[in-house]
Amino acid sequence: MAKRPRSERMRLLVTLGFVVFPAAALIGFSVLHLRSIQRDKAIEAAIQRDFQHMMAITEKRMTRKAYEMVDEIQPKVPCAYDSDAGTRLQAILDKHPEFAHAFTWSKGKGTVVRSQSRYSNAGEVQGEGEKLGSMITGWFDLEGTSIVEKLHKLQSKGERPYYAYPDWVNRNGKMVYQAMIFYPVNENKAGIGGVIFDPDFLQDKFFPEMMNTMMAENEADARGNNNGHSEAVMMIHQPKEPPLAACSDWDGGTPEMERKLEAGFPGLMLAMKFRGTTVEAIGQRFLRTSFLVLGGLSLLLAAGIVLTYRGVKKEVELAKTKSDFVSNVSHELRTPLALIRLYAETLELGRVPNPEKKQEYYCTIRKESERLTSLINNILDFSRIEAGRKEYDFRETNLTELVRTTLDSYRYQIEQHGFKFEEHIAEDIPPVVVDREAIARSLLNLVNNAIKYSSQDRYLAVNLKRSNGSVKLEVVDHGIGIARDEQSKIFEKFYRVCDPLVHNTKGSGLGLCLVRHIAHAHGGEVSVESEPGQGSKFSLVLPVSPAVIAADRPDMKQDVGVA
Ligand code: ADP
Repeated sequence: MAKRPRSERMRLLVTLGFVVFPAAALIGFSVLHLRSIQRDKAIEAAIQRDFQHMMAITEKRMTRKAYEMVDEIQPKVPCAYDSDAGTRLQAILDKHPEFAHAFTWSKGKGTVVRSQSRYSNAGEVQGEGEKLGSMITGWFDLEGTSIVEKLHKLQSKGERPYYAYPDWVNRNGKMVYQAMIFYPVNENKAGIGGVIFDPDFLQDKFFPEMMNTMMAENEADARGNNNGHSEAVMMIHQPKEPPLAACSDWDGGTPEMERKLEAGFPGLMLAMKFRGTTVEAIGQRFLRTSFLVLGGLSLLLAAGIVLTYRGVKKEVELAKTKSDFVSNVSHELRTPLALIRLYAETLELGRVPNPEKKQEYYCTIRKESERLTSLINNILDFSRIEAGRKEYDFRETNLTELVRTTLDSYRYQIEQHGFKFEEHIAEDIPPVVVDREAIARSLLNLVNNAIKYSSQDRYLAVNLKRSNGSVKLEVVDHGIGIARDEQSKIFEKFYRVCDPLVHNTKGSGLGLCLVRHIAHAHGGEVSVESEPGQGSKFSLVLPVSPAVIAADRPDMKQDVGVA
C-alpha cells in the first residue's frame, strides 16, 4: 500500500482533531444531555412522588397520634348537663398538660369550658377559654345538631367520630395556631365535647418529634435501599408564613413541595426540601457545566471548520494549478515534438537546400529533444518525490568541475539567446558530498529560468563561492524579477507567478519545487532576492561536512577528531 505523504496525514489528523472529534463529542454529549434531562425529569418526578409520599405518611401519623391522644380522654368528657362537668373537665386537663382547654356543649344547656391552670400564662389562657366558650355556644347552638349527625355518620362508617378545627389565638401579641378536636357526647341529647391542643406543645414537642421520627426513618431508608433522599428536611407552617415547627436539620430556604393538611391539623401545611440546596440549584449547576462543555466543543468545532475551509480552499487552488500544469506540460511537449517532426521529415525527404541548413536542422532537433528530456526528467523526479521514492546518490564531488561541465554544455545556448554571460567560480571550493545529477539539474533549472524570465537586459551570471562553512551557488539575472509577496510561493509545486510575461513563457511550475527539494535533501537551502523589473538572484547553499572543513583548516582538525 502506498505510504500517505506527511502533509496529508497531518491534514487528516487536524480534521480528526478539530472536526470529527468535537463533532462526535458534541453528538455524544447531546445524547447524554438528552438522556440526563430525561433522567432528571424522572428523578424530579421521583423526588416529587417521594416527597408527597413522605408528607402523606407524616400527616397520617400526626393525625393518628393526635386522635389517639384524644381517644384517651374522650370517654371521660362529661355532658354539659352533668353537675360535676367542670370538675371532670379540670381533672382531664390536670392529667393532660398537652391540652390548653377542654369543653363540653349540650343543646339547650350551653358550654362548660375549663382551661389549663398550670401554665405560667394561666391568666392569658383563662381569657382564651372564656372567649372559646362563647364562640362554641354561638356556633354549636346554630349548627351543633347537624355536626353531631355528621359525626355519628362517621362513626357508623367505622371511622373515629372526630372533627378537627383550626383556631388562632393571640399569645404575647403573636397569633398562634391551635387545633381543636371535638366529638359527640351524650347519646340522648345533642352534645359535643372537645379539647384544644396547646400551641406551645404542638410547636415545641408534637410537630418536631413527629417530623424528626419521619426524617430519621427516611434517612435509614435512603441508606438501606437508595429509595429515600437522605438530604431531605421537613417543616410545618401556615401558608406564606415562616415555619411553625421544623425537623432538627431544617436549614431555612424555600421548600420544594408542600402539602395542605386536612384531617388532624387543618389550616397548616407540611413542606419539604433538600438540605443545603434546591432542585433548581442542582439544575443550574448542571446547566452551567453543560454550557461550558458545549461552548468548548463548539469553539473546537468552529476552529475545525475554519481549518477545513482553509484546507478545502488549498485543495481547490491545487486542483486549479494541477489543471494549469497539465495544459502547460502538454503545450511544452507539443511544440518541440512538432519541430522535431517537421525538421526530421524535411531531412528525410531531402528537401534541405545546403549542408549549413542541414546542420542547423540537426542542431534544432538535438536542442528540442534536450528540452524534452529535461522536462520529462523534471516530471519524473517530481513524481518520485511525491511518491516518496526519490533516492540520491551522494558522493564526494568537486563542485567547481561539476558546475563548469554543466555550464559548458549549456554555454552555446546561453550565448545564442544573446546573453552576456559571466562565471565567477572560486578555485578554493572544498569537495562536497552531493548527488551530481541532482545538483546539475538544479543549476540547469535556475539557469533556464534566468533565460526564460529575462526580456531586454539579457545578463546571466553564475557564481560559486565559499560562505561560512557552506558552498554557495548563485544564479543572477537582470530579468523581470519577482514581486515580494510571490517570492515564498514560487517554490511551491505547480506555482507560476500570475503575470502576462510569465504566462507567455512555457513552464510547468515544477523547476523551483525540485530545486528546493534537492537543496533540502542535501541539508542546504535555496533562496531568492529579487526586485520586479530589476532581476533576480537565486542562491543554492550546500553545507560542507565538518570533516572536510577541518581537513581544510588545520586549526580545527582536533575539534572534530580528524587525523
Ligand atoms: P516554471 O519556470 O516552469 O514556471 P519554476 O518552478 O521554475 O516553474 O518557477 C516558478 C515561477 O517562478 C515561474 O513561473 C516564474 O513566475 C518565477 N520565476 C522563476 N525563476 C525566475 C526568474 N529568474 N525571474 C523571474 N521569475 C522567475
